[in-house]
Amino acid sequence: MSAEKAQALVLRARPFGETSAIITLLTREGGKVRGLAKGAWRPKSKFDAALDLLSICQVLVLHRQSGNLDLFIEAFLEHRFRVGPHEASFAAGLYIAELLDSVTVDADPQPQLFDLATQAIRLLSAPRPGQSHSQRSMQSPSFVAALVIHTELGVLHQLGQLPSLHHCAECQKPLHGRRISFGMLAGGGLCSHCRRGKRSVVSVSDKAIDSLRQLAKSFDKSVWESPSKAPLGELRAIMNTLFANMLGYRLKTSHWLATTLTPLREKQR
Ligand SMILES: [Zn+2]
Repeated sequence: MSAEKAQALVLRARPFGETSAIITLLTREGGKVRGLAKGAWRPKSKFDAALDLLSICQVLVLHRQSGNLDLFIEAFLEHRFRVGPHEASFAAGLYIAELLDSVTVDADPQPQLFDLATQAIRLLSAPRPGQSHSQRSMQSPSFVAALVIHTELGVLHQLGQLPSLHHCAECQKPLHGRRISFGMLAGGGLCSHCRRGKRSVVSVSDKAIDSLRQLAKSFDKSVWESPSKAPLGELRAIMNTLFANMLGYRLKTSHWLATTLTPLREKQR
């Protein structure tokens, strides 16, 4: 048995017995780890809030032989997710956690994916009282919608599955026109010739493709450009269909996230 220290993001937490919890962590050093935190939900737990959902923490993991859950021995809080006045940011945080849980496997370290996820979680967390106005405006539903899409594209980039946004996914011809065919299973944009006979092809606006191009940048930076006047409702529908096709199911939190972003869609009509 060996104990390892890791930086971690809490993706899932469910009760185990009276006061313990089974926690799923995405760690920077060791990839996804599922383990038992004994007494985590006691009122005065030694873990405090470090193993709460969406917390970023330093954790000491005791790896056990296969068939046994790993044990979390110690955890120190680095960043606590603060739920603000906008439901959309909280929904987005949980959506990103579920997405990361769905696209990762145990013990496969992907530090860039970890950095991308923790960067998004920090931005979605409400600012502390006294923080500047610009940080507060980051909580607006349109910022949240754009940040989620930026993060999703970053996840696809890390998995080597970023859809083709500039050229036809099949023949590499540049994409152009007011409406562009987008193959959910074919890897992105398709020219009129290559789209023939393909399944799961949707027609998307040039504005949507252009916004996706802008959002598919600067994955390694905390500062990125949110495109102005992006058709966020259309983009949300594209990303939901893309991940549903990739995973074979819809993420449980996707409906809630869409609901929290609905006022935004109506405003854009
Ligand atoms: Zn083509």
